[in-house]
Amino acid sequence: MARNNAAHRANGGSSSTTMPNGLPDPTAASSSSTTNANARSRRTTATTKSSNAGTHVRPALFSPAGLALLAVQTFFALATPIFGLAVLVVSKGGNVIKSLTAHPTAGPLINPALDLLADFVTYHRGIFATVFVAPASVAWDAVEALRDWMYDLQMPPVGDVSVRREIHAARVVQVQRQIRELVAGGATRLCTARPGFLAMSMKAGTYKKHWGGVEVHALRDIVEIDTVRQIVRVEPGCNMGRLSRELIKKGWTLEVLPELDDLTVGGLINGFGIETSSHKYGLFQHTCTAFEVVLPSGDVVFCDKDNNVDLFATIPWSHGTIGFLTAADIKIVRAKPYVRMEYHPCRTQAECVRVFEEASRDNGNDFVEELMYTKDTGVVMVGKMVDAVPRGGTVNVLSRWYKPWFFTHVASFLNRPAGTPNAVEYLPLRDYYHRHTRSIFWEIQDIVPFGNTWWYRYFVAWVGTPKISILKMTTTGKLKVLWETMHVAQDLLVPISTLKESLDLFHDELTVYPLWLCPMRMLSPPENLLANRGERPAVAVLDRTHPQHAFHPVTTPAGSLTPPHPAEQLFVDCGAYGVPKSPKFHFERSLEVVEEFVRKVQGYQALYADTMLTRAQFREMFDHRLYDKVRDRFQVGSLLPEIWDKVNKGARS
Ligand SMILES: Cc1cc2nc3c(=O)[nH]c(=O)nc-3n(C[C@H](O)[C@H](O)[C@H](O)COP(=O)(O)OP(=O)(O)OC[C@H]3O[C@@H](n4cnc5c(N)ncnc54)[C@H](O)[C@@H]3O)c2cc1C
Repeated sequence: MARNNAAHRANGGSSSTTMPNGLPDPTAASSSSTTNANARSRRTTATTKSSNAGTHVRPALFSPAGLALLAVQTFFALATPIFGLAVLVVSKGGNVIKSLTAHPTAGPLINPALDLLADFVTYHRGIFATVFVAPASVAWDAVEALRDWMYDLQMPPVGDVSVRREIHAARVVQVQRQIRELVAGGATRLCTARPGFLAMSMKAGTYKKHWGGVEVHALRDIVEIDTVRQIVRVEPGCNMGRLSRELIKKGWTLEVLPELDDLTVGGLINGFGIETSSHKYGLFQHTCTAFEVVLPSGDVVFCDKDNNVDLFATIPWSHGTIGFLTAADIKIVRAKPYVRMEYHPCRTQAECVRVFEEASRDNGNDFVEELMYTKDTGVVMVGKMVDAVPRGGTVNVLSRWYKPWFFTHVASFLNRPAGTPNAVEYLPLRDYYHRHTRSIFWEIQDIVPFGNTWWYRYFVAWVGTPKISILKMTTTGKLKVLWETMHVAQDLLVPISTLKESLDLFHDELTVYPLWLCPMRMLSPPENLLANRGERPAVAVLDRTHPQHAFHPVTTPAGSLTPPHPAEQLFVDCGAYGVPKSPKFHFERSLEVVEEFVRKVQGYQALYADTMLTRAQFREMFDHRLYDKVRDRFQVGSLLPEIWDKVNKGARS
């Protein structure tokens, strides 16, 4: 990324004003990256080279890999026009049906049938999700996996970075070209071209229909894994499933690896990303060490703690309102094959808070999480990565289709008699990371209510898990209204000192259980940035009083989160997903009450979810001082609107 020479050159050198000078050459630093002189000398223009590169590494036709590749390419060659035709027929068919519904004769005949179909999809969602959405999801995943596999087969191994870098550089040039063409063509606003239904958020931006769309999610591959610097350089469209499979295979993992396979690097950085290791490492953004961004001017900028540090600090939470992220460097750590998981059932609210806080403050724990099942009961889960399962240890392979939903399995530990020693299980690492994936946390119980019965698990569940994207695509109007008025999906980040108060308020206003509690560390922006501003880091050290709480270098991008007082550096993500049972619940009023509380305790709201905040309240919750300066410095202007303009209730449907 630092040496995005091909992109730079193909761009006629116009990015030279913003590219940093004298950056360390990652190729030189990496002894594990097998870049060779020959490969380096091949760098001329990226486009030509990338095609040469493809030919260079393509497997011989009659080798097993070559034949497999031929089969996949034939599949795509045949399937692409067939798929295109199917899309055309469906979209034309949709138009024909629309005009028929308005027809004076055909309308009265066809409308009742369509209503019946919509009612079926709405009120028998479980059956629809099982017979249509789940198999379609498997097919979708299979096609994506084939595409990725084909790409990897044509590429040299991930360790051989030269060709991958050139291909990446060529893709960045495409992003630059798109932006310049859109602006030259009169676009007044820009956003990513990713369709709303592909994003994990239940809401899609209405602005996507009117603004100029820049395709960045086609950048979806791993550029390099540098095991010496312990960094993976990755494109923004790469999702957690692809990244975790590739890293774990090589014995590595991310410091913070968010749960769902479909979450993307770009979304987790520009939005937010959290996992149960965030008590040690902070949010997903805190584990990033550098970003490559294309500005609305079309220039490429590299930023890290030493170069364009203001930009580096503000990209997280910016929701693509400063520029388009095209690559990120993310820290990696050694992975171990299993997670030793200890389940602590807690039977009073005080115990739930105490055990959770103690576990969260102990950096010796790799993973900490709590599921609250009522206001007063919950199970704290403490995980540690281990190399092997000891003799007599219980292994639980959660990913097997017949296993009960994880949150129901965890609840069962509350049934053990008080005083019984805590249960311990060993989970394969990827199974741990994706423990809530099959049940989409617990959202699945409202979609397929019979999905955890023994007959469904053993005889039907092998079909697969419905993908959120396809569920969103098939949401009917009635379902949307129900979803918007009777359902919440909110992650609210509050200081751990306010956990009891938060639990009481969430119970009072929402009563959504299980309630997800995930600890997270708030870290300062890079020290040199603070020094420029005449400030000292508020949170430089996790906790000096405990030797196991190591010194944490302050190099992390904070986005517009204000680093709290050291005593408040530990936060909790309270995740409420589901249908509220509180008799007081009223969607807008309850959300306003909760948001007011979060502002009062200087917490934050995750912006993938609904927000009722006004622009002024939003600016109060998120510190915009540096953000405004950076937007001015890079002359973003009105081409990219402010964050609030993209996330407020009116901007999404
Ligand atoms: C059911 C469910 C489960 C979830 N589970 C988790 C979880 O386990 N852990 C977790 O951390 N979060 C979780 N989330 C929330 C999720 O973190 C956010 O939605 C997050 O923003 C990532 O989603 P995405 O990859 O779909 O990104 P998107 O929604 O596509 O993007 C998020 C924002 O980033 C911007 N953006 C994306 N890529 C770029 C780019 N290349 N350049 C500039 N801007 C860009 C987009 O414009 C958008 O504003 C969950 C959400 C739901 C609904």
